[in-house]
Amino acid sequence: MVIRYTRQREAILRLLRTTSSHPTANEIYLQVSEEIPNISKGTVYRNLRVLQKIGLISELDLEGTNVSRFDAKQDNHYHFKCEKCGGIFDIDVSVNNKLDQHITLNTGLKVLHHHLEFHGLCHRCQEF
Ligand SMILES: [Zn+2]
Ligand SMILES: [Zn+2]
Repeated sequence: MVIRYTRQREAILRLLRTTSSHPTANEIYLQVSEEIPNISKGTVYRNLRVLQKIGLISELDLEGTNVSRFDAKQDNHYHFKCEKCGGIFDIDVSVNNKLDQHITLNTGLKVLHHHLEFHGLCHRCQEF
């Protein structure tokens, strides 16, 4: 039993590490069930919680999306949401740590980190 659960967890983690699409729990379930046909939705959800708890993945709660998406990229990075196709993309521009200092200097609040999300049209959607 233990081994099976581990295999399921590994399959979920592997999937998240090889995609940049920030899939929803349901998308993860659909893809993992191709590899492990008898996996249940509950198992996928439970393993996502565990992976999140141990800090291997994070749950994204982006504006304008009513379902959570998951990300295995653990260094702080910005996201871009396409308003047309709904795609979530990682932004390959380094996080601006000066912003944290700027907020701290101006408000006295001790900023530890920040999350930013950008909204607009992705490369593909700009062509149509
Ligand atoms: Zn798009
Ligand atoms: Zn990401």
